[in-house]
Amino acid sequence: MVTVKILKYTNSDAPIKIAAAAAAGLIAASTLAILPAYAAGEVNIYSYRQAELIAPLLERFTEQSGIKTNVLFLKKGLVDRVKAEGLNSPVDVILTVDIGRLSNAKSSGITQGLTSSAINDNIPTEYRDSDGHWFGVTTRARVVFASKERVAQDAITYEELADEKWRGKICTRSGQHSYNIGLFASMIAHHGEEYTKKWLTGLKNNLARKPQGNDRGQAKAIFAGECDLGIGNTYYVGKMQTNEKKPEQKLWAASIKVLFPNVEGRGSHVNISGMAMAKYAPHQDNARKLMEFLASAKAQEIYAEQVFEYPVKPGTKASDIVNGFGKLKADKLSLQTIAKNRKAASRLVDIVGYNDGPSS
Ligand code: FE
Repeated sequence: MVTVKILKYTNSDAPIKIAAAAAAGLIAASTLAILPAYAAGEVNIYSYRQAELIAPLLERFTEQSGIKTNVLFLKKGLVDRVKAEGLNSPVDVILTVDIGRLSNAKSSGITQGLTSSAINDNIPTEYRDSDGHWFGVTTRARVVFASKERVAQDAITYEELADEKWRGKICTRSGQHSYNIGLFASMIAHHGEEYTKKWLTGLKNNLARKPQGNDRGQAKAIFAGECDLGIGNTYYVGKMQTNEKKPEQKLWAASIKVLFPNVEGRGSHVNISGMAMAKYAPHQDNARKLMEFLASAKAQEIYAEQVFEYPVKPGTKASDIVNGFGKLKADKLSLQTIAKNRKAASRLVDIVGYNDGPSS
């Protein structure tokens, strides 16, 4: 049987995650050990994605390639950890989500450029770094959650969220959260800073409450009648719909419809879940093989299904659950361009006092 090895991590919450994954039967508990892992035939992964989500994919990779995979799941501090490890870092491949984290990994100097036609052929240019430092494997769209009961319209634009007709009706998480920064950065890229400042002020004035909670919390607030619209990532809808442990989330999901903004125009803002080769990867060849595998159409589809996301290769299919949200038309704006506008977006959030909530 193929097992996915887990590198033991000393962070307080990591053992819980590892134990949970082991309990789920996806990882042999006997493999929990500190592994120097410099032998040939292995590849070491640091992941912000939970081990149980990537285990099926890694097992398939091992079956095909004979290369063992060792995964260290981290909840935070990945960049700092790799930096501290320096030249001796065992990590080969970094798996993470969000352009903010991927571009930060590159600018922190912990990644290296990779040129592979096998990868580049499967990943459109807007979803990868032009120097090959990171690659998006799946996408998630940042959409509008709308109350089925109280919102009649079935189409919306991001621009419209600043319209007075939504006064007191919108809920979001913190404006400084990476997901919102990505969206606001895309607004700057399309419209410029001046427009985006006005827009963000309008959106702030339309908030029903101070920004708070996570994306699921906005669906919960719609369910509770506190607001009519929320902003959230698509995969949370799938997670809520299928949440057996917290079945109340199924009710939150059932109370909303997904509106894909700007379908008539440029399309909805998307972000990526991606991979990067570590700067000092000790197993470069194996890292390349793993990354080429993850970029393949089949692997994209398997991964996307696991995490309720969209595979990036044109012609690939999202799962039935994901297709059930509606039809995605993705904004073609390059994620690299969005990343360049993140700082300005963060500044605007502070300037307009977004996180103070509605003024009256
Ligand atoms: Fe998330």
